Amino acid sequence: MTITKVNGFEQLNKKLKTYIKNEEELNEIEKAYLFAKEKHNGQKRISGEDYIVHPLNVAYILSEIHADSKTISAALLHDTIEDCDVTKEELENRFGLEVSKLVESITKINKLNFSGDNEAVIANQRKILVGMTEDVRVIILKLADRLHNMRTLWALSEKRQKDNAKETLDIFTPIAHRLGINSIKSELEDLSLRYLKPDVYYQIVEKLNKTKVERDNYIVEMMESVSKILNEHDIKHEIKGRSKSIYSIYKKLDKGKSFNEIYDLLALRVFVDTEAECYQVLGLIHSKYRPIPKRFKDYIAMPKTNMYQSLHTTIFGIDGQLFEIQIRTYEMDKVAENGIASHWSYKEGKSNMQSEMEQKLQFFRVIMELKNEESEEHFVDSVKEDVLKDTIYVFTPLGDVIELPNGSTPIDFAYRVHSKVGDTMIGAIVNNTIVPLDYKLKDNDIVKINTNKNSTPSKEWINIAKTTQAKNKIKSFFNKTVKEDYYNKGEELLNKELKRRKIPINSFLSSENIDKIIGELKYNDLNELYINLGSSRISPNQVINIITEENITKEEIILNKTKDKEVVLPNIKNDIIVKGIDDIKVNIASCCKPVNGDRIVGYITKGHGITVHRMACPNVNDLNERLIDVKWNNTKKKYPTSLLIKSLDDKNVLMEIVSKTSNSDITIESIKTLTSGDDYTYQVTVLVENKEKLMKYMNDLNMISNILSVERLIK
Ligand code: MN
Repeated sequence: MTITKVNGFEQLNKKLKTYIKNEEELNEIEKAYLFAKEKHNGQKRISGEDYIVHPLNVAYILSEIHADSKTISAALLHDTIEDCDVTKEELENRFGLEVSKLVESITKINKLNFSGDNEAVIANQRKILVGMTEDVRVIILKLADRLHNMRTLWALSEKRQKDNAKETLDIFTPIAHRLGINSIKSELEDLSLRYLKPDVYYQIVEKLNKTKVERDNYIVEMMESVSKILNEHDIKHEIKGRSKSIYSIYKKLDKGKSFNEIYDLLALRVFVDTEAECYQVLGLIHSKYRPIPKRFKDYIAMPKTNMYQSLHTTIFGIDGQLFEIQIRTYEMDKVAENGIASHWSYKEGKSNMQSEMEQKLQFFRVIMELKNEESEEHFVDSVKEDVLKDTIYVFTPLGDVIELPNGSTPIDFAYRVHSKVGDTMIGAIVNNTIVPLDYKLKDNDIVKINTNKNSTPSKEWINIAKTTQAKNKIKSFFNKTVKEDYYNKGEELLNKELKRRKIPINSFLSSENIDKIIGELKYNDLNELYINLGSSRISPNQVINIITEENITKEEIILNKTKDKEVVLPNIKNDIIVKGIDDIKVNIASCCKPVNGDRIVGYITKGHGITVHRMACPNVNDLNERLIDVKWNNTKKKYPTSLLIKSLDDKNVLMEIVSKTSNSDITIESIKTLTSGDDYTYQVTVLVENKEKLMKYMNDLNMISNILSVERLIK
């Protein structure tokens, strides 16, 4: 592409008029230009030029690839938010939402510090990649912006030149390549090389110049020869000599080739109207000039992943010189030069370009999948590794091209085709030969994946696969299986504990309870709850307690505290007066547990002193001869006694008993749950000062709504 430098609007306008026919659109663009010119008035670029020259040239670069009017307007305005304090609202009011959005997006990308720390650069690159998935025009605009900045890079310091050049090669030219925008990509590459490795660059330029006359002569001669054959067969055509880009020569030299070994220094491009004519031209050329067998490529039948189509062949031409000849239609040429940027038209409100990209560009799909990567760094690295670095092209048995990073294996291939193919892969056949799964695929391999629907991936594959895409898919297969196991285990653990605690599973798992549990634990759903239970990140009791919260947890604490604890009797020696006897051992009967104020009677045991019962105790009824009169002394000491409490349900009863107790002068000594079946009965042993307080306490308990009865227990 010849480089045109634009100094005024007229030059741009002339170019625009060649493909934008709508007057209104042209007026809008002029309006944008005048606005930008006014806003940038007085500003200079480092090169010393008026600032407006930059947006003007960016717009011109875009007009060369026939960008739509909105993109051209946005190009003219692209630095006004950043450099002129114009707000996006003002742009929206003047030029509409679409233009203001484009400018806003490009401003966001540009604002990020390119030469900053690694993190900032990565964040920046992520935005570029993700931004592309939203509106690819932003990236095309960015590429044009970058191209003009690279053209004027001479004005910057050497460090900034190298930084910019490196970044251009690192991220922008690979993107331009994937988008098929060859015209911009190629110039960006050459400019980058010039600043990054000036010595290499100028060596190549020098060598090309030295051989130029000779090469030009060969090319002209060859063009005439080919043209003659095609005219003889009435094929309307055009032929152009093609100069190879300096950067692509550098790449070949870098791979160890010598200058003389580079075949396609002599290159022609033949343009015809139809696809059929392409093959016809190929046949005619081959019938006159012998082709090098392995150098023939049919990118018409099998387009490159960036939609590029052409026939390529290398022949022994005049004087045995090797010529590379590319044959394509005009339509194919448009795509070959501008790729995705040859689809500016709109369909039903959606840019044709965006949908072309979504449907046809493999790298777009990979970026979309990798978008979910957790860290920015990993995302950017993965995109670079999986789709932006050196790639190979391999084929499915049906001839579809799959583009993969260098070093990819059949595993990567299978997962790139489809997750299902990867997950059920049992083997691979490359060029009709069975290969191991760690086989490194090479350019043009034809790869067939054998699958079995019952087969599953091996964990080992994660180490064999090259692409993050394949690794992620294998990992997610295993995560899914592990998750299923955890889920089942979690469900089982919870149900078991519910059963143990005699909580009906169905009522516990009411939607109300589930909401409460996952809300409390900040989970998304029941799924996540079970998985966390199954992986022991949470215990079933923690979950159950969320519902039974205050009551059961505290209940348990009380029960655990008091379980099996023996009732310790106070020293009662002075508390009970035994009629007629001064010094005798006195016990309180454990069957009826009398308290001060109870009518009591003493029972003379054999060798164990006197046991004091309540008169109402049935155990003393028949023992008259051994009974002895006893009575309470004036004591303030608390004595234990047991109550039998029946209730309707167990929900809050224990809690209420406990709270009623703490409000009184009574202490709970122990609680036993005697519940069986639907019956809720508790044996509560309390320490109480006297009968009066006990009666009041029992009354209070009786007031608790779910309590059916409160009785003193006699065993
Ligand atoms: Mn700019």
